[in-house]
Amino acid sequence: MGGFGSGRKFGADCTDDYRFIDVRCWQRDGYLVPGRHLDWQWMRNGEKVAAISVKVEIGRLRLIYSYRRNGDDWESLDYPVSLRTTSCHYGGERYWFTCPAAGCGRRVAVLFLGGKIFACRHCYRLAYRSQREAHDDRAARKADKIRAKLNWQPGILNLPGDKPKGMHWLTYLRLMEEYRDYSNQALLGITAKMGIVNNRLMALDSRK
Ligand SMILES: [Zn+2]
Repeated sequence: MGGFGSGRKFGADCTDDYRFIDVRCWQRDGYLVPGRHLDWQWMRNGEKVAAISVKVEIGRLRLIYSYRRNGDDWESLDYPVSLRTTSCHYGGERYWFTCPAAGCGRRVAVLFLGGKIFACRHCYRLAYRSQREAHDDRAARKADKIRAKLNWQPGILNLPGDKPKGMHWLTYLRLMEEYRDYSNQALLGITAKMGIVNNRLMALDSRK
């Protein structure tokens, strides 16, 4: 257990990149033999940017790596990922990972590392979506509060109204500016919800 090498740590430093492991490649390359020990690494511009150790056991793998979030201390991780097999149409077996995220357990070919643990695209997309939705909802609520101050009809999909009688122009302009920021944020969220999902994950997912 522990990191990689003694001095230098190459673990899963948290970045925007989604790193992933693909059980199909490991099966194809003959790695899924109990007792095998793999060192897996990700390169960028010829440099190693992250690495994990993989121990193949009977019916499962153990993923061993270090993780840290934005310069916090490194944390050593070592946890199992169950393997499952299904029989292929043309004979032989096909291997799958079981997503190790709490409450998931989906049978998947690819696990992503988008945070501390490896998890399937469903888990990461859900987390991403709920985070984004919470953010957009907050913006929509703030925009609506400003609409109320301006005596405008509620709802950011409605047109902006006029300056309420008796309100100072400076107050009005400041509120308008805040309103524009919040409603733009919320509207962007709405358009995203209507069809744009994480392109990168979609691209990886289509590699069937
Ligand atoms: Zn999952």
